[in-house]
Amino acid sequence: MTFVFPPALTPSVAIAGSEQRLPVHRIYCIGRNYADHAKEMGMPVDRSAPVFFCKPADAVVADRSHIAYPLATSELHHEVEMVVALQSGGVNIPAAEALRHVFGYGVGLDLTRRDLQAEAKKQGRPWDTGKAFDASAPCSALVPASRWGDPTKGEIKLLVNGKVRQQGDLNQLIWSVAETIAYLSSLFTLMPGDLIYTGTPAGVAAVQRGDTMEASVTGLPMLKTRIV
Ligand code: MN
Repeated sequence: MTFVFPPALTPSVAIAGSEQRLPVHRIYCIGRNYADHAKEMGMPVDRSAPVFFCKPADAVVADRSHIAYPLATSELHHEVEMVVALQSGGVNIPAAEALRHVFGYGVGLDLTRRDLQAEAKKQGRPWDTGKAFDASAPCSALVPASRWGDPTKGEIKLLVNGKVRQQGDLNQLIWSVAETIAYLSSLFTLMPGDLIYTGTPAGVAAVQRGDTMEASVTGLPMLKTRIV
């Protein structure tokens, strides 16, 4: 079997302290997972079911990247998020067994074309133009779960040009990592290499060309990127 042209390279994420990389299969994102962010977006806190959307796997961007200001927006927003990387998957995974499927954790940005997302919401249309664009998923190097194993607490923070823009704690997650994996696996076959962006605390705002973003979660590698 041959292809009519060479297939695209497999998107991947670095692993802290290793030469190996994690091949990315899919990127799932959870929305409104911190009450103070749901509130700033004018939405109620809804415990009935998480809000989910996807980004393409090749939207992932490495630490220390310069990111071109995206097309078709004048309101590019940052959302700092903890990222969960899976090493195995399945369907209908019980929450009590979910963390066994985690390879490791990182820090990411769910970059958002807020103007396009707002228009999509108003029109009752899908969020893809607002969320699933090129280079919309920066991600730090991953720390294996054996070295950073408790995703239920720890400060999550974003600095823009050295000033604090977003600050929260993983203990504020409405849907825990285990609950999120369980829920996703009731809808999709989870696979090794799936990334899950777990939602953002309050303080989302716009960035401009020239801005530097430093995203962190206590105990995980920092993610530093610049908009150009
Ligand atoms: Mn988000």
